[in-house]
Amino acid sequence: MENEKTNFRIIFIVINTVVLIALFLGASYVGYQYYLSQINLNIAKQELSGAKKMYQAKIALLETALGQKNIENVGLNQTLTSEQNKNNLFESQIQAIGGTVGTLTKLSQTDKELLQKYSKVYFLNENYIPQNLMVINPSYVYNKSKLQQFHTSAYPYLVQMMEAATSTNPLLVISAYRSFGEQASLKANYLVTYGTGANKFSADQGFSEHELGTTVDLTTPKLGAGFTKFDTTTAYAWLNENAYKYGFIISYPKQNTYFQYEPWHWRFVGIELSAKLHSSNQFFYDLPQREIDSYLVSIF
Ligand SMILES: [Zn+2]
Repeated sequence: MENEKTNFRIIFIVINTVVLIALFLGASYVGYQYYLSQINLNIAKQELSGAKKMYQAKIALLETALGQKNIENVGLNQTLTSEQNKNNLFESQIQAIGGTVGTLTKLSQTDKELLQKYSKVYFLNENYIPQNLMVINPSYVYNKSKLQQFHTSAYPYLVQMMEAATSTNPLLVISAYRSFGEQASLKANYLVTYGTGANKFSADQGFSEHELGTTVDLTTPKLGAGFTKFDTTTAYAWLNENAYKYGFIISYPKQNTYFQYEPWHWRFVGIELSAKLHSSNQFFYDLPQREIDSYLVSIF
């Protein structure tokens, strides 16, 4: 009985000891694993921190590179803008040259006689004929049985003026283009009828603006062929106020020093020049020829 108790104690002690040892070993193992996991965690932390530093450094490098690229971009943009400015300048220079060439071409093709003043020292050649002539619509002509011709390029301006006058002060063309030969025979007839007195109202051939094809003698339906009294009509007053809008001027106004007063005689010189003459209250023959010539390019 005593032995059994002793054996039982021994077994109990052994079991306890084994359990204690097992517990101790278990605890040690857990502790060791914990210790290992802490080490691993630290290593991982260090690695992460290293990676973080590396990425931060990389980001800093990229930012620096980006900054440089931005600076380069600004530089490139500036270069681009300056190149574009150069191109624009070049383009405008080409346009200016094109414009000048256009102006010169137009000038070379425009009849210089159209804006000439006619005097004893400057007159038209007997072979002169206008570039283009067309028949004036008979509804604008006093004597319907006689065809009247006018310069083709100036004709639309004549039509506009005749139409504008129609409602209040209707006008009719008595005479328009006259050739050198026609002017010569007209003058000869006048000389037979009026003697040397005809010199006052009919120009010698070569000196008449009618040979240009851009000049008309006007009357009214009421006045008809008696156009020498044209300046007593309201149509004449209307022309003085409005003809310039269509490019027409009175060549020989009252008290001019060039030729007899011809209120019926109107010459096309282009809207720019007629407007200038109207606004400055000057007459065509009072301007220097050099100044008149500067309007040739804008006559049509
Ligand atoms: Zn005339």
